[in-house]
Amino acid sequence: MARERLNSGNERGIELPKAKLNRETLGHVSRLLSYLKPYRGKFIAALVCLFLTSLVGLAFPSFVGALIDTAQGKRTDDWLPATIPGILVLAFVVLGLQALISFFRILWFVTVGERALADIRRDTYLKLITLPMNFFAGRRVGELNSRISADLSQVQDTLTTTIAEMIRQAVLLVGGIVFMAIISKKLIFALLAVLPILIVSAVFFGRFIRKISREAQDKLAESNTMVEETLMGIASVKAFVNEPFEVKRYGGAIGEVAAIAIRGAKFRGMFSSFIVLCIFGGILGVIGYGCVLVSHGEITFGELLKFSLYSMFLGSSLGSFPELFANVQKTVGASERVLEILAEKGENVSTSEMADPIEQKIRGNLSFSHVSFSYPSRAEVEVLREVSFEASAGQRVAIVGPSGSGKSTTAALILQFYSPQSGEILFDGKLASQYSLTDIRNQVAIVPQDVLLFGGTILENIAYGKLSASREEVVLAAQRANAHQFIISFPEGYETVVGERGVKLSGGQRQRIAIARALLKNPSILILDEATSSLDSESERLVQEALEELMKGRTSIIIAHRLSTIREADRILVLEKGQIVESGTHQELIANEQGLYRYLSGLQFDVA
Ligand code: ADP
Repeated sequence: MARERLNSGNERGIELPKAKLNRETLGHVSRLLSYLKPYRGKFIAALVCLFLTSLVGLAFPSFVGALIDTAQGKRTDDWLPATIPGILVLAFVVLGLQALISFFRILWFVTVGERALADIRRDTYLKLITLPMNFFAGRRVGELNSRISADLSQVQDTLTTTIAEMIRQAVLLVGGIVFMAIISKKLIFALLAVLPILIVSAVFFGRFIRKISREAQDKLAESNTMVEETLMGIASVKAFVNEPFEVKRYGGAIGEVAAIAIRGAKFRGMFSSFIVLCIFGGILGVIGYGCVLVSHGEITFGELLKFSLYSMFLGSSLGSFPELFANVQKTVGASERVLEILAEKGENVSTSEMADPIEQKIRGNLSFSHVSFSYPSRAEVEVLREVSFEASAGQRVAIVGPSGSGKSTTAALILQFYSPQSGEILFDGKLASQYSLTDIRNQVAIVPQDVLLFGGTILENIAYGKLSASREEVVLAAQRANAHQFIISFPEGYETVVGERGVKLSGGQRQRIAIARALLKNPSILILDEATSSLDSESERLVQEALEELMKGRTSIIIAHRLSTIREADRILVLEKGQIVESGTHQELIANEQGLYRYLSGLQFDVA
């Protein structure tokens, strides 16, 4: 993959892998082409324009030939006017028409292509974000992102230009050959005899050269990795005084790159000499033969010129096919990857833009009954084993345990990101599966450890908890979350842009925004994933206060990293390696001198 990316050429700087063309893969492309359907009227109009402009393009050599012949007092094309001004006027009229039709051809092709692409993009994105969490486990964000950008841009290229270009070149090719055959059968036979040899050798040579340049690029990539590694580990390099070793290593790799590139240059030089010889030789040969035919009176000069122009058309359209073909191959690959996403089964969540009314209200009773779970990506490891607990509406249940014991996994299961392999999760005594996903997620809120703010204003970020919220509601939530003060201290207040390109907020501030979000959402069940990194004491107090406000009247599941915050919990579950090993109140648990809770508490604070 690294190599593919390094290959230059594509203007986006990303070289997509090519796919084999066969019935199945072409079927994929045609499925994407079905996105053109809503725009078929315009697409057909564009195709007609395309056909017309290509045909008119073929008339151009006829005009030139007729002009030359007329100048010499001969007349070969009966359908054209007999005088030079007559021919010229007609030629300009035709050219004008051609220009006009070309305009609409391009406009309509691009319009249709872009609209269809926007539809594909939207569908892919919608699919992508409604896919279950499992889907994301095995994939990197970069890869998914590239499907939306690079793969779809490739499809876009095809929709807007490649298809049109292929049809145009095919018309030019076939039309050119037909017109040439009309001029002189002998000449076209002569041309068609040398052409295949030229094409085969060009293709063969071209492949060979590409292979060599790919080798050079691989080597170059290797040496770049070396630089990257060395620079990243520069402290080690220096500490071990290994500079000379690194320089030698890099020097070796660079030397190889140069050697391969030079070998490639040798072949490229040979190739270019060969092509020059063949092309000019071929042209000379055919024109020479044509001159013989002219001297025998079999064809006129005008016809010879026409023939030569058509052979140039032929040459250029033949020359464009490899690239067009490669483009189609890349599109096939790209569309396969996009269709893979479109074919995945999404979660059954509402995709309407309107806020969904809650169909089944959850009061806040939550229970896990013998829940066992392993991540689909690592099926052999049981992350939760026979976990059972209950939280009645309004209770606070804290989950503690060493890192990796399954605390976050429990939260993910409450949110229905995954389903357990065995056991049941119940809301108000009813199986989770009896509720719609949208209903559950609308009534469960999470305040995560590391709060992600989206690029946008603070107002928008808080309103993410309830998209229909009014400004007053947002401000009220911010006030209750102890966030209002710091927000209005910014010059732009609630309109302050945050996120990657905006103001950086501190951890405590981000948490208070998340709390305001959750307050707006007004869930019956709350999951608090306590921040691991400690806040300064003032910030800590503000966050804690905001959390207290948030937890009021709701069932709260607290994933606790600092034991000091959970003494008030109605119940504490101690998880170890996916099993609940202890449960009870702080007082009960601390009394067990052999217990894990007592041990964990001892690590963090002196037991009072
Ligand atoms: P905790 O929150 O207690 O630190 P987690 O619930 O995050 O623990 O993780 C429990 C176990 O599950 C760990 O062994 C972790 O490696 C594994 N795990 C967590 N997330 C995933 C995932 N998406 N895919 C596979 N394994 C995971």
